[in-house]
Amino acid sequence: MTERVHIVGGGITGLFLAYHHTKRGDSVTLYEHSEKLGGVIGTNQVPEGLVEQAANGVLLTDEMKSMFADIGLTPLFPNKAAKRRYFWVNRKLSRLPISILTGIKLLFTIAFKKIKFETNQNLETWATNMFGSSVTKNIIEPAIGGIYGTRLEALQAESIFSKWDGSGTKTILEEMKKNGKKSYGTVSFPNGMGDLVNHLVHYLESKIQIKTNFKFESLDEILKLKGKIRICISLKNLIPLLGNKIQTHASPNLLSITTITRFGKNHLTKKPCFGILFAKNEGIRALGVLSNSDIFSGRAKEALHSETWIYPETAKENLTETWESILEKDRELVTKKLDPSVAVYVTSWSGVFPAYDRKLFIFNQSLDVLESEWISYGIDIRFYGNYRKGIGLRSLFESTSRE
Ligand SMILES: Cc1cc2nc3c(=O)[nH]c(=O)nc-3n(C[C@H](O)[C@H](O)[C@H](O)COP(=O)(O)OP(=O)(O)OC[C@H]3O[C@@H](n4cnc5c(N)ncnc54)[C@H](O)[C@@H]3O)c2cc1C
Repeated sequence: MTERVHIVGGGITGLFLAYHHTKRGDSVTLYEHSEKLGGVIGTNQVPEGLVEQAANGVLLTDEMKSMFADIGLTPLFPNKAAKRRYFWVNRKLSRLPISILTGIKLLFTIAFKKIKFETNQNLETWATNMFGSSVTKNIIEPAIGGIYGTRLEALQAESIFSKWDGSGTKTILEEMKKNGKKSYGTVSFPNGMGDLVNHLVHYLESKIQIKTNFKFESLDEILKLKGKIRICISLKNLIPLLGNKIQTHASPNLLSITTITRFGKNHLTKKPCFGILFAKNEGIRALGVLSNSDIFSGRAKEALHSETWIYPETAKENLTETWESILEKDRELVTKKLDPSVAVYVTSWSGVFPAYDRKLFIFNQSLDVLESEWISYGIDIRFYGNYRKGIGLRSLFESTSRE
């Protein structure tokens, strides 16, 4: 049966949700506050190459593949040489940041140790108890920090691994088998991530009604819509929209992040690589760096090399420091030489990420309660976004498909 669906927010979450509904033949109206669709995702073409505003890639699954085919988009696979990934530990680059014995212990933990979440523990303490300090410091801290835009002490296991049963009865391996879908690694597109937005919009244009520059004055106005209501706006915009529906002390913490795309003549590492993840207290302020032009072709022009460095807001120690100077200091430590850049593009996002902590976990529980309360009054409203079931595009695509 054709359903009437109103989607508020035309970022990638709203576009993914609109895609899933059109596949079911539903009648969709998409409302976007700004004049542009795609939200934070977009690609700028600059004289030196290509600069991503937010996501640089997306994890490819079978479901994603069929969506790309529908919207006429060909994924761009990484170069083979970019398989090399580095960790920065003990102030040097390493491909294997733990000993073989620790690696064996890690496999044993994944296969046999039961997962138990403790509400009063941050992710650093939880991971240390679960995996030991070496794995936590040298693998989990750099890997999770690079994805969630902050350090482990600001995060919580229950929130990050919300799909896992943390009651002490299941192992990580069991949960991975239960939740895991086959992934073919990270892909992008010939003209960058903007291609994904443009192709999705082009596909949807003839199938749904799109209203850009459209602003609802209040939540009450949204609640009057007839049909399913799907809120796909960022958490930063959702909190004021909800007003007193959520208690102010329960408002989640928001993180700010800066990405810097740097074009230069020399490569970051001797051999091409995917990038480097940085452990804490190792002299580097970045969370990670992607070696863009090693990963994907067409990222930089005229023998230039392109990198994207990712910084948490706390990386700036005083207001006089520039992002460029912070990056160059970090880079000098990694490459052990001064190497002037050709061009640097800074993108700062304020409050773009939720901190995946206990507060967010409780906030999401409150949203679940609100959704059920509204259903009992005959209002079918649901909330989607990177604060619900995971930050990445794959999570957003999968959660919006489960309507
Ligand atoms: C720097 C950075 C790097 C990232 N890298 C990756 C990566 O490599 N891979 C990956 O998978 N993910 C990555 N992510 C995560 C991913 O990009 C985001 O989680 C995702 O794009 C968020 O999309 P969204 O649609 O939920 O939110 P947004 O992009 O914030 O979109 C929300 C939309 O809602 C609109 N809106 C707001 N309020 C209203 C209103 N009242 N009415 C109507 N419309 C409204 C906004 O204008 C906006 O268009 C990255 C994110 C950042 C910031």
